[in-house]
Order: sequence, then structure tokens, then C-alpha cells
Amino acid sequence: MARAHIRWISGPVLRARADGPFALREAVRVGPQALLGEVVRLDGDDVIVQVYEDTTGLRPGADVVGDGTPLAIPLGPGLLGNIFDGLLRPLSNTGDHVAPGMRRAAPATFRFTPGVQVGDVVTGGAIFGDAVGASERVQRCLVPPHVAGTVLTVAAAGSYADDVPLVSLRDAAGGTHTLAMVHTWPVREPRPVRARLPATAPLVTGQRILDSLFPVAKGGKAAIPGGFGTGKTVLLEALAKGCDADVIVYLGCGERGNELAGVLEEFPELTDPSNGRPLMERTVIIANTSNMPVAAREASIYSAVTVAEYFRDQGLAVALMADSTSRWAEALREVSGRFGELPGEGGYPAYLSSRLADFYERAAIVDTLGGNVGSVTVIGAISPPSGDFSEPVTSHTKRYVKAYWTLDVKRAQARFYPAVHPLQSYSEDAQTFVPWWAEHGAAEWWKLRRRVLTLLDEQAHLERMARIIGKDALPVRQQMTLFCADVVNDGFLRQSAFSPIDRVCSPARQAVMMRLLAKIVDAAEASVASGVHPDDLRALPSLRALVRMGEEIGDDALDRFHDLEARLDTDFAALIHAKEAEHAPVG
Ligand code: ADP
Ligand code: MG
Repeated sequence: MARAHIRWISGPVLRARADGPFALREAVRVGPQALLGEVVRLDGDDVIVQVYEDTTGLRPGADVVGDGTPLAIPLGPGLLGNIFDGLLRPLSNTGDHVAPGMRRAAPATFRFTPGVQVGDVVTGGAIFGDAVGASERVQRCLVPPHVAGTVLTVAAAGSYADDVPLVSLRDAAGGTHTLAMVHTWPVREPRPVRARLPATAPLVTGQRILDSLFPVAKGGKAAIPGGFGTGKTVLLEALAKGCDADVIVYLGCGERGNELAGVLEEFPELTDPSNGRPLMERTVIIANTSNMPVAAREASIYSAVTVAEYFRDQGLAVALMADSTSRWAEALREVSGRFGELPGEGGYPAYLSSRLADFYERAAIVDTLGGNVGSVTVIGAISPPSGDFSEPVTSHTKRYVKAYWTLDVKRAQARFYPAVHPLQSYSEDAQTFVPWWAEHGAAEWWKLRRRVLTLLDEQAHLERMARIIGKDALPVRQQMTLFCADVVNDGFLRQSAFSPIDRVCSPARQAVMMRLLAKIVDAAEASVASGVHPDDLRALPSLRALVRMGEEIGDDALDRFHDLEARLDTDFAALIHAKEAEHAPVG
């Protein structure tokens, strides 16, 4: 074991004179409390270490002891339903600090059912059994990626602590390995896969503006840039609650403690609408609030994505929500500044961009080593200082994500939620999902989507004109277009995260709503020829019902859209009839 002695220390960073060889990225224990750290640079006989715990009281001369292995985290069935710090040490549900020097959670007990027999040959990533805990959820026990061999012994079915060896193997070189439910994996190394697969299905978020207009792939990557108070956290939480992933990894990264308190208090109370079980059973929360050590925040996104890959490797669809990647980048900047690196753009180190790329690159849909399909979808919030989207974190992230959901200050100020701006957001994968929508009852999804986007584009154009000449000076046809855009905004894009009926909207309901809106928009625009004015439509009770349909007609009552459509048809026919009678030549 290599040792070093601290020469100099500044906050989370220290320099130590090494007596033996250390490796880059090696985990170390620092000082009498054995604080967790990591070698971030080798400099002649010195090592530079970042420390993931509070270094108050640490003095020059104190010991730094190498682990001989890279910084790694324990992965096992005890993750689901629990809350951890950035290095996967358990936090109580009030988000308290962990004890100094703690490495992992106390072992928990699970019921093990073996899935292999003596004599079987297993390879890395294979499933060697099932683990079931208090939630009754079945989790898979994985052979660690680089381990393979012939099974020598298998524990009988029964309850075991998650770190107890259950299976022993002999590998080709004659060495033996033991397998427990928990294994460790270095956080900065992507877990290997057989193959990356092309995206074919969207992650269904339940948010209309995302699924219908700017879908993200299962295994894709999305960013949510937005200024303070524009709804990033509420949107991420809504996705965590409502999306169709099997497992959610929620990373609260560097936001103030009270923001995260919402998640910590609320999540344990919620149930999963798809199966009625507590939502926490499919969730892992990783929390590093702004008052926790800054270096641990830097590591936390790697821990989070490693946890996500671990569940992916069990053949699951995982969604990782990170709030916020800007706070992560600030931690990177602070740590880098402390060890005297030359600052680049915005004070961030020059490798900001490649670090962001490395993180988002770990989003994928894959053929796992165990032969299943699993995915990690990464969704990162960005909080650009003073809402300036040209700053480095936003602009670099934009190069790596496929879906980009801009939150707009004006929309948020008007309490129009989610405040995703339909003309400043995009999805590069959207067209890929045409077959998926066709299988889900909306063969004409692409056409409907184009119709909505064109209308919103026209609205932006006409509003610019109206600002100059006044809205009433616009021809009636154009006033009608503006009216229709309002109907689409209010009736479709607006969706309250707090409405019991509307906080999640199924793709089937989205399709019905889009179809009905497209039909009404066409009818409204056509009715201008019969002398109908937008004010006539505004007065129709059925039109008001159309705008409120999201909150009034739920996923389980799609039939009621037929009634609404019939009412609209009747009202339109009556209106046009009246208008035509008004204008008909007398006699
Ligand atoms: P940010 O994380 O971007 O700073 P928040 O997510 O905390 O902003 O949102 C600020 C406030 O805006 C929330 O407290 C809530 O009142 C309101 N809000 C945001 N998004 C929604 C939404 N989808 N539905 C209803 N209200 C929302
Ligand atoms: Mg927030």
C-alpha cells in the first residue's frame, strides 16, 4: 500500500509527498478519520488528491494511504428505495451527513434464489440469481463484468446479507472468485456492454410537449436549460414520477438543501401509477446539496450514471435525472482552481467539454453482457447564470444531447407550465419514432406534430406583426391563426404538474387530443370564409371545454373525447349556419 504525507491543503484539495507509487484515479484514505479521497494528479514525487469529505482539522504531515484500486462504489439490491450521498454512502431521509470515513451502507438482507448450478459456465454480466427484499421486487444478481468461470459452489435459496459470498467460480487460469449480491465498480469507467443499439422507442414522459413534439429516446440524452425559477426541478420531478422507465436515478446535485427537501419529503409518499406500489421502490436518490463537500459533488454524476448502468445491465430501462449539471460544473471549476489549473472559458477547466461528453455518452440502449436489452436515458437540467444560454455549460451540453428542452422565462412568468419553449426546443430523434407512434394508434403523428409546430411558428411571426400594427389591424384570417395557436398552447402544451388528472398524459390521450385540436384548428380556419370571427368561437362553451380537456378528461376516459368532438361539431355547424343566414341576401 502506497503512503504519502500531506504537505499542503486547501479546502477539498491536498498535495502530499509520496513514499510509494500511486496510480491516477486511485482511491485513498486521508488522515486519522480515513476520509475518502481520490488521486487526481501525479506531480513528480507528489500526489494531488481531492477529498470527498469535510477536511476541516486535517493538518500537514497527516497520512494519505492508497487503496490500490480506483474509486469505486458498491452496487447491489440495497440501492432501490434509498438515499445516498455522491459516493453512495447512505443518507438518512433528512439528507444528513454521513459519518466521516464511511465507505458503504451496512449490509442488508435479501432472499436469494440461485439461477445457476455447479458446473455451469458463467461470464461477466450474467445473472446468477434473484434477490428479493422487503418491497417484494425481484432484482437480478449480476456476475461482475470482468469475471467469468465455472461454478464450483452455489448457496441454497434463503436469506443472506448482500455482501456474503453466494457463488464461487474457477476461472480459466485456475483462479477462484466469489460472487455476492453486491459488487463494486469504478465510477469513472463505463460498464461494458455487448453492443450499443439504435434508438427505436421514446422514453414516454407523460408530458405532452415532450412526447408529442420533442421526444427523447429510451437510451437518449436530453437537457433542460432554464433560468432560476423556470421550472427545471418541477419538470424533472414530474418526469421522475411519471415516465415509463423501470428505475429512476434522481441526482440532486449542488442545489440548495431546501430544493431537495421537496424530493426527499415527497417521494416516499408517492405511489407508482402503473402498479400502485410506492414510487420509491423504483427510485434511487443521490443527493449532494450545496452545503456538502464540493468534490463529492464532482464525483456524484459518475456515481449516478454508474448506478444507472448497473440497473440497465439487469435488462431494465433506467432514467437518470440530474439537477443540476451547472452545479456539477461549478464543483469541477472550484476543485480545478484549487489545484492551480489554468482556467478556460468562464473559469471552467479546459476539459469541461470532454467531461460533459463522457457523462452524456454513457446514455445508451444496449445489448447487455447478460444478453438482455437495457437502457439509460440521461436528462440533465442546466441553470445558466442569469439565464444566458451562450455560457459554456449550456453551449457544450447542446453539442452532446439529442433533445433540448429550453425553459422560457416569459412562459414561466405567465405561469404557463411546463415552460418549454416550442420554438427554441428540438429533438433530433423525433422522426425515428414515427413507427412507434403508428404502433401506438397515431399513424399520422408526424403530420399532427408538423401541423402544431407550423401553427406555433406562424403565431410567433404574427405576434411580431401585431406588436407593430396592433392585433385588431390584422386580417381576420390571421387573427384566427393567433386564436388557434392560443387554443393549442392552452389546450395541449399547458399541463399542470399538480393536477391529479393531467400530471401524466398517456400517448393514447396525447394522440386523441392532438387529432381533435388539428381538426378544430382546420375547422376554425375554414370558418373564416363563412364570416366567423375568433370572438364567435371564444364564446362557444364547447371551445372552452376543449381548452380545459387536459384537466377534465383523464387517460381512463378517452370515450369522453367523442362527446366533446360531437359538441364541437354541433356548435360549429350552428355557428356557420347562423353566419351564413346573416349574410344571405334578403328575400
Ligand atoms: P427551477 O428549478 O427552474 O429554479 P422550479 O422547478 O423550482 O424552478 O419551479 C419554480 C416554481 O414554478 C414552482 O415552485 C412552481 O410553483 C412553479 N412550477 C414550475 N413548473 C411547474 C409545473 N409544471 N406545473 C405547475 N407549476 C410549476
Ligand atoms: Mg431547481
